[in-house]
Amino acid sequence: MQVFGLVGSPVEHSLSPPMHEAAYEELGLDARYVTFEPARADLEAALLGADALGIDGLNVTIPFKQAVRDLVDVDDLAARVGAVNTVDFSGSEPTGHNTDVAGVQRAFAHHDVALAERRAVVVGAGGAGRAAAFALADAGADVQVANRTVETAAELAEDVGGTGHALDDVPSLLADADVLVNATSVGMETDESPVPADALHADLAVLDAVYTPLRTRLLRDAEAAGATTVDGAWMLLFQGVAAFELWTGRDAPVDAMNRVLRARL
Ligand code: NAP
Repeated sequence: MQVFGLVGSPVEHSLSPPMHEAAYEELGLDARYVTFEPARADLEAALLGADALGIDGLNVTIPFKQAVRDLVDVDDLAARVGAVNTVDFSGSEPTGHNTDVAGVQRAFAHHDVALAERRAVVVGAGGAGRAAAFALADAGADVQVANRTVETAAELAEDVGGTGHALDDVPSLLADADVLVNATSVGMETDESPVPADALHADLAVLDAVYTPLRTRLLRDAEAAGATTVDGAWMLLFQGVAAFELWTGRDAPVDAMNRVLRARL
């Protein structure tokens, strides 16, 4: 039996176990997906133990995505993003990867949103913001970053060849933008949006990384403005799809994983 899992804190309400187990069931794989919540001080021991026990792959979530980067060999993308969300134990040494980037790119691709040479605005510069900015820049978009803490926006913007901005600049940035990603936590469990509704327009494709609720205030405003909308469950789904494919070398049963994920949301 193969064993995969998730390391983070808290992980109790994670949607990754049902999403991945739906894939195993669909493909008839003899595999399980379990959650682990080690203390921060035990993270390195936990990874060594996972390797020694023959665990095949681990996802990594808050608050360990940055710390794991310093504990395993990381691929070029995870090194550039500065965060690991997937560890693969199949080689002689564990390797760290970042499938949040693929999650953003595949979420847009699934909605037929082209990114090459498009003007993109990322609002938020934390973990999700970094993944979104690299996803868009690597796909060939021109990326501007806005954040409550402008210094963090400037740092991320520099990493992806754009400019950092304050949140107040977002309406003017959006005027001639094609793509918007909300990567702040604004709208999570509240009916707030980080972007004024009147800054949204029909030529935008809007991805909200927030997925609780699925139809956030931002996405409802975007829909009303005639924009294309992509909810955060698509990003969550496709980061899991990319991890599944990395670990198993097989095409993921995307529909089965999506069905279970949306049923849980
Ligand atoms: P994070 O690293 O803690 O970053 C939080 C971001 O939100 C920062 O840019 C922060 O700005 C900003 N922010 C927080 N409160 C704000 C407020 N009141 N006004 C304006 N900006 C505010 O968190 P994260 O991991 O990037 O997660 C951000 C969101 O994305 C969460 O809702 C999370 O659930 C979601 N997410 C979704 C996926 C997915 O697969 N769909 C994956 C990862 C995360 P400062 O820098 O100024 O603090």
